[in-house]
Amino acid sequence: LLDLQTKLEGSIVSYPRNIPIAIKRAKGAIIEDVDGNYYLDFFAGAGVVNLGHCNEEVLAYAEKQQKELIHALDFPTENKLNAIQKILAHLPVTLRDEYKVSFVGPTGSDAIEAAIKLAKIKTRRDTVIAFSGGYHGMSATALALTSDTGFRQGISSLVPNIHFVPYPYCYRCVFKKNPDNCALDCLGYLKMVLEDGHSGIPKPAAIILEPVQGEGGNIKPKAGYLEALVELAHKHDVLVIFDEVQSGFFRSGEFLSFMHGKAIPDIITVSKGLGGVGFPVAGIIYKRDIEAWGPAAHIGTFRGNQVSLAAANGAFDFVDKYDLNEHTQAMSKLLFAGLDKLKAVSPLIGEVRGEGLMIGIEFVKSRESREPDARSVKEFRKNCLHRGLIFEVGGHFNNVVRLVPPLIITPAIIAAALEIMEDSLAAMKN
Ligand code: PMP
Repeated sequence: LLDLQTKLEGSIVSYPRNIPIAIKRAKGAIIEDVDGNYYLDFFAGAGVVNLGHCNEEVLAYAEKQQKELIHALDFPTENKLNAIQKILAHLPVTLRDEYKVSFVGPTGSDAIEAAIKLAKIKTRRDTVIAFSGGYHGMSATALALTSDTGFRQGISSLVPNIHFVPYPYCYRCVFKKNPDNCALDCLGYLKMVLEDGHSGIPKPAAIILEPVQGEGGNIKPKAGYLEALVELAHKHDVLVIFDEVQSGFFRSGEFLSFMHGKAIPDIITVSKGLGGVGFPVAGIIYKRDIEAWGPAAHIGTFRGNQVSLAAANGAFDFVDKYDLNEHTQAMSKLLFAGLDKLKAVSPLIGEVRGEGLMIGIEFVKSRESREPDARSVKEFRKNCLHRGLIFEVGGHFNNVVRLVPPLIITPAIIAAALEIMEDSLAAMKN
């Protein structure tokens, strides 16, 4: 099957290159391939199936909906209004009345396009600041905001006026400041861009970043960084967009990852986990006072598919019914504790980090040099796959194991995954 797909689709095939399986079905956190092998899924379809593959309770909402109404463009439906209300109801109490929600299309990239467009219309500026290691999607603007030039091979011109600043990647700090007091130092370059008038960069419409950087290696900024960034941006009348496409929908142990701190963004992008079990839906959550759309200024055929929105409603109800946020936090603690033990015995592991169930394991050639070790990660992934564990690899240097399992994982699943990782590391010593 895999060979046939590659033949038919050509070299665009991505994930199966490194995880060479053909999938038959999946349930919860388990994937079965066409040969009858089972895998623990710590990839969750790129951080999408947060409530587990084919979660029956969420599917019941979708199944009921698909018999009533599937496609309704952007006409109002009870289903859609419920989804908006549920999103707002899961924001902090003090913010609920401050935001609006718009569904903008099926993918995270759609949400990015809409967020940037809104920021540009509102500020009547054109420049956007993005971050090293950031990933925002494959549509033109989203691609231009994505720092990995590997995705732009052969393309000479993209959306103009986008500039990159360093992400607060403390393990590889480009500023080499005192690590105990660096959240503010790290904003130095951005400060220069916004304040001193000699960066050559015009005043931006917006700054966009992932509050926990996903594809870049599950990097969580130091406490205080996001707050300082928002303060700096607002001092200069620049909007802040938090891309929560991956870090959102309870993945971090909060509905949106910025809710761990006090930073308040102007626009938030959401998608991936919002459809509960993989139904495509994306939206922007934005402050009422930056409303700037003219009538029908942003349209699209597949905005708010009713089955996806029903699944989103089911997903919120599932989260509330089972207190999934608390569960995620407990599972996160358990997984971190196990990974810290692995780190203690394996010199290949330089850092274990992240938030909630968005965890990065950074592989290095040695702890002292911190030289990225992409080759070992590749071998480790292969070893884990053979033993029945699937995950994605990412990071600025492709040397980070990215664990983003469904949030419904249990202590037994975590124990099994840790055992596989331990065995896989041990096999690499031989
Ligand atoms: N933003 C972030 C943070 C993402 O991780 C992704 C997908 N990995 C996107 C945007 C793009 O989403 P999509 O692939 O659905 O367009």
